[in-house]
Amino acid sequence: MPEIDSLIRQFVECESPSDDAASVDRFVALVADTVASFAKVKTRRGGKFGKLLECRMDLPGRRKTGQILALGHSDTVWPIGTLRSMPFREADGRLWGPGVLDMKSGIAFFIFAVRALRDLEIPVPAQVVLQLNSDEEVGSPASRALTEANARKSTAVLVLEPGTGLTGKLKTARKGVGDFTVRIAGRAAHAGVDFRAGASAIVELARQIERIAAFADVDRGITVNPGVIGGGSRSNVVAAEAWAHVDIRVPRLRDAPRLEKRFRSLRPVDTRCTISVEGGLNRPPLERTPAVVALFRKAQKAGRSLGVDLEESSTGGGSDGNFTAALGIPTLDGLGAVGEGAHAVHESILIDRIADRTALLAELLALPM
Ligand SMILES: [Zn+2]
Repeated sequence: MPEIDSLIRQFVECESPSDDAASVDRFVALVADTVASFAKVKTRRGGKFGKLLECRMDLPGRRKTGQILALGHSDTVWPIGTLRSMPFREADGRLWGPGVLDMKSGIAFFIFAVRALRDLEIPVPAQVVLQLNSDEEVGSPASRALTEANARKSTAVLVLEPGTGLTGKLKTARKGVGDFTVRIAGRAAHAGVDFRAGASAIVELARQIERIAAFADVDRGITVNPGVIGGGSRSNVVAAEAWAHVDIRVPRLRDAPRLEKRFRSLRPVDTRCTISVEGGLNRPPLERTPAVVALFRKAQKAGRSLGVDLEESSTGGGSDGNFTAALGIPTLDGLGAVGEGAHAVHESILIDRIADRTALLAELLALPM
C-alpha cells in the first residue's frame, strides 16, 4: 500500500518533539490538511505545548447515536534533527524512523480506516472524533481536561498507541503512574573544622532511600523507583540539601492512597534533618474492568473475521487511555502499529501488519458500541 506508506513517511519526516510547540503545530497542521476534506477540524491551545487537534469525521450512515473517541498524540520523544541519524527508511520488511511506532503510524491507520469506510460507503452508527494531544510524552498536563471531556461524551475510546510486542497484542490494562520528589534539608558545616555541627542531608537521603525502595511490592505489581538523586555542594562540606525523584507504578487505583501516605509519613533518622515530599499519582491505572474486556472481545471477533488472532496484554507504561478508563468509559488501547523500539533507536513497524490493523480500526468504527 504505497499510499499509506507515503503518508507515514510524511508524518515521520515532520518532526514533533513535545517541548517544541512550533514543530508540533506544523505536524498538527499536516494532519489537519490530510483530513480536511472529510472532517470538521478544530484546534485548541495547548498552553506551552503545541495545539490540540479535534477532528469530527464525516462518515457514511444517516442517524448517528453516541460517539466513539479515537485518541492519539502528535508529540514524540525525539528532538529535532533526529532524522539525520535515524532517517525514515524501508528495510527488512519494516518502516523505520523517529515516532514511526509511537505513534505516527497509528494516526495514519486511523485516517485510512476512515477513508475506506467512506469509499465503501459502510454506515457508521456513531459520531467519530479523533483527538490528538501534543503533550502525551510529558504526562499530558495541558490535554487531560479535553481528553476527559471528550471521553465523557463517548461510549468507547479507541487508543491508537502501538500494540504490545511483535504480535501486536492489544492493551487491556495499564498501570497508574506517579512521581514524588523527596527533599532533605540538613545542616551545613565544614567537614574538617566543625564536622559534629553538621547534619548531612546526603546521609539522611541514603537512609530514606532504603525505606522508599521497600515500599515496592513487586508481586502485587507495585513498583517504586528512585530514579534520580542529587545533593551537596562540595566534598569538604557536610551537605545541607539532597533530593530524590521517585517513579511509582500501581495496577489498581486503590493502591495509590496507601503509597502516598507512606511517602508523606517518612520521618528523619537524624532529627536535625527535615523531610518534605511533593507529588503523587498523575495517571490513574487503566484497569481491566468487564467493560474493557467486553470491548476487547468485540475487537477479537472483528480480528478473527480478518484472519488475525488478537491477544490482550498489560503494561506498566501509561497512556491517555488511563484517563478515559478511569472515568469508567470502555477503553481499548494498543490499536496502532505493530513493531518494536518505541523511544529507542531501532523504532520500527512491520509493513505486513499495516493492512490488518487499518482494517481492524475500520471494523470497530462500523460496530455498534
Ligand atoms: Zn505513545
